Amino acid sequence: MDTAAHHIAQSVTGVSTPRWMNEEHILLADMVRKFLSAELVPNANEWAKQGVVPKKFWRQAGELGLLGTSIPEEYGGSGGDHGYDLVVLHEQGRAGDVGWGISVHSIVIHYVLNCGTDEQKQRWLPKLSSGELIGAIAMSEPGTGSDLQGIRTTATLDGDEYIINGSKTFVTNGQNANLVVVATKTDPALGAKGISLVVVETDGAEGFRRGQTLEKIGMKAQDTSELFFDNLRLPAANLLGGTAGQGFYQLMQELGFERLAISVTALGCSELALSETIRYAGERKAFGKSLMEFQNTRFKLAECKTKLEAMRAFLNDAIENLLAGHLEPATASMVKLFSTETQGEIVDDCLQLHGGYGYMFDYPIARLYVDARVQRIYGGTSEIQKEIIARSLSAG
Ligand SMILES: Cc1cc2nc3c(=O)[nH]c(=O)nc-3n(C[C@H](O)[C@H](O)[C@H](O)COP(=O)(O)OP(=O)(O)OC[C@H]3O[C@@H](n4cnc5c(N)ncnc54)[C@H](O)[C@@H]3O)c2cc1C
Repeated sequence: MDTAAHHIAQSVTGVSTPRWMNEEHILLADMVRKFLSAELVPNANEWAKQGVVPKKFWRQAGELGLLGTSIPEEYGGSGGDHGYDLVVLHEQGRAGDVGWGISVHSIVIHYVLNCGTDEQKQRWLPKLSSGELIGAIAMSEPGTGSDLQGIRTTATLDGDEYIINGSKTFVTNGQNANLVVVATKTDPALGAKGISLVVVETDGAEGFRRGQTLEKIGMKAQDTSELFFDNLRLPAANLLGGTAGQGFYQLMQELGFERLAISVTALGCSELALSETIRYAGERKAFGKSLMEFQNTRFKLAECKTKLEAMRAFLNDAIENLLAGHLEPATASMVKLFSTETQGEIVDDCLQLHGGYGYMFDYPIARLYVDARVQRIYGGTSEIQKEIIARSLSAG
């Protein structure tokens, strides 16, 4: 395809447009890029100091239609596919940001879209699209993360209400969120079959409390927090999908998208790390030459570029499969494992090429380096991805 939109895409990334991107994806990417460079990039340092992305920015993104790109128009969105969300996340990574919790917000939208009853969709999707509601997912607990079956938060049915008790940790958007999808045990005697997702609308909710924003080594603008539920009463109508015991299955349904969402961030951040380092290596002098003239620099950057393009090719292939509805869980795990581990290698090499300045927050590579570390931990650690991949192996 040879359109104006494809020329825009190619001139920005320097590589050919992925097959899965249509004209609308490309125009969206261009719009997001302009929006983030005008409204996010200039404020990123300030928000990192504050430890939160202001709600006003969420509303601005909502007004532009960036929060509900894949929500059908009947529910107030733009009617796109998962590719729209991935375009937004890729541009966010390329802008060097991971503080804005749009990724988790998008995942919440897909839970409601795919698992919610029609009444739940009508109630929540338009507000998730406008930014009136900000989404969060509360699965992890102080005592369990990788092993979801070990959660202890309970939802006990009492007439037409659930009573929620328990505490959650590491919740992305923990301070800003006012719609929290909470993983609970509705039947603690059962394992995975006793898990249910309940949706807590936190505004004015009695028995709901937020902890302090957790102090992290990176992702400084992200309001990751603990959340506490103490005899919080919730209408039974807030059980996602309306049937108890479906939580584990509902979470599994969206894992492919979640893993590609993390991977597309890895790609965007790695692209920025590489372009920043190429620029720096051209400017910085040592021993009377630019760093770029040292063979080691050129070889390191050549290795980084090769890894980046391998990541891109693997990811684009997986996105095509996701959009066609046949992405295998083990493949999604391989993409997440490969892209986040590779991101770690790229930002490490790029930081090294900056010398001491790479260790200073004045240079984007320093933030890219610390922000990258968690990518191998959340959304299922690298070890959990290997478990999933290993289970899919057969002697065939
Ligand atoms: C910044 C940040 C944001 C997050 N956002 C969210 C969020 O929005 N919502 C949410 O619910 N959670 C969130 N998390 C939590 C995240 O998903 C968990 O930290 C992650 O799943 C790992 O769980 P854990 O920390 O309890 O580690 P553990 O499960 O205790 O694992 C510790 C170590 O043991 C390894 N391990 C565990 N089981 C196995 C096994 N079977 N085989 C081999 N090795 C194993 C792990 O790989 C890891 O190296 C976030 C975390 C961070 C740091």
